[in-house]
Amino acid sequence: MVHVDVLSAYLNCGVSALVGSAMLRFVETDDLRLRRALRRCGWALVVLGLGLLPAGLGDGAAHPLAQFSLAFGSLAGVVLMAHGLGHVQGRNLPVPVLSALLVGLLLAVLASMAAGPLVFGQVYALGLASAGTLMTWHARGFVSSPRDRIERGLGLSLLLVAASGWLRLGFTMAYVGAPRTDLLYVPAPLEPVLAALYGVIPIVMATLLLSLVNARLHQQLRNRASTDELTGMLTRRALREVAPPMVELAQQRHRDMAVLMLDIDHFKSINDSHGHAAGDKVLRRVATTLQANLRHDALLARYGGEEFVVVLPVDDLPAARRASERLRHAIEDIDCARALGMDLRVTVSVGVALLGPHETLDAALQRADEALYRAKREGRNQVQVSLMVA
Ligand code: GH3
Ligand code: MG
Ligand code: MG
Repeated sequence: MVHVDVLSAYLNCGVSALVGSAMLRFVETDDLRLRRALRRCGWALVVLGLGLLPAGLGDGAAHPLAQFSLAFGSLAGVVLMAHGLGHVQGRNLPVPVLSALLVGLLLAVLASMAAGPLVFGQVYALGLASAGTLMTWHARGFVSSPRDRIERGLGLSLLLVAASGWLRLGFTMAYVGAPRTDLLYVPAPLEPVLAALYGVIPIVMATLLLSLVNARLHQQLRNRASTDELTGMLTRRALREVAPPMVELAQQRHRDMAVLMLDIDHFKSINDSHGHAAGDKVLRRVATTLQANLRHDALLARYGGEEFVVVLPVDDLPAARRASERLRHAIEDIDCARALGMDLRVTVSVGVALLGPHETLDAALQRADEALYRAKREGRNQVQVSLMVA
């Protein structure tokens, strides 16, 4: 059987907690909440690390100070970790509650030390089980609804810590024999398992937290690239990524898809007479109005300056025309005086094309664009349909 010395594992755990805390200090993220959460987790690891080191240094483990440091450091570290991990998910442990918990732990550790080594071991085990459960509960999103493999890993680590706490408590309460300086009152076969777990868990959690920051940063960059800053709608690039699979699926199911190209009429003159900032407001309002008048299965993208593209499933060409007319009316009905504080009227011209069974999105967009130019030529504020079936 593999033998892992428990006190060495505590030393290992202490050092890995300190290394993990240093790793978290180096993280650069402009997400304020995440930064604060990582700071808190970093401090939790410092408390845990410093608490475990004296007990891990072999001969000194039996010294009351080392015993106190082991018990209070590890319990306070887990509670502080709960504070940090909860904050990653936007959950806050109010400072008075946190302070009360820490003071309560301090008093419980001191009182149980005075009551004798076995009681001390029992109170410590109860504290570990409770603190581990608090940490899991407070950061329960990692367990109940993890967003990716990293969060699932964090959830699993939390469950392991909590479960090991309860296991320890059960065995500690049933224990009869001489007191142990490592406070690990479990049967011999379980010792190396728990010792190994404690040796690696701080560094595993710190590494998972770093991966989490990395993944969130990546997601942020993707969102920035796929969302238009001014209107919050999809960018042209994002539409080219998102729409083709949707079109392909519709074609496989023999469902019709309509491509609408919308362009604000005389937008340049809005900019010229009301200023660029007013033009931006109009753009945002048009975007939200279009969005509000589309079903959830439609895609809306800002395709160019004052041009929008809509891709949506429809029953047939007349339905596509009706949807386009609905959007055109919705824009025409915007009460600019009330909504924007400007005395103007906004209208759009719309070109519509129904995607052919083997037609590409680009080809349909080209036809919608031609229909749009016809709408402009024929006097604007109208819908024109591309009749040519590809
Ligand atoms: P038409 O009815 O023929 O479409 O005329 P128009 O004035 O709408 O079209 P034109 O292409 O002449 O002008 C488009 C204007 O849109 C010019 C450009 O300065 C403005 N524009 C493009 N992007 C933005 C933006 O992000 N904000 C603002 N305020 N204006 C923009
Ligand atoms: Mg225009
Ligand atoms: Mg234009």
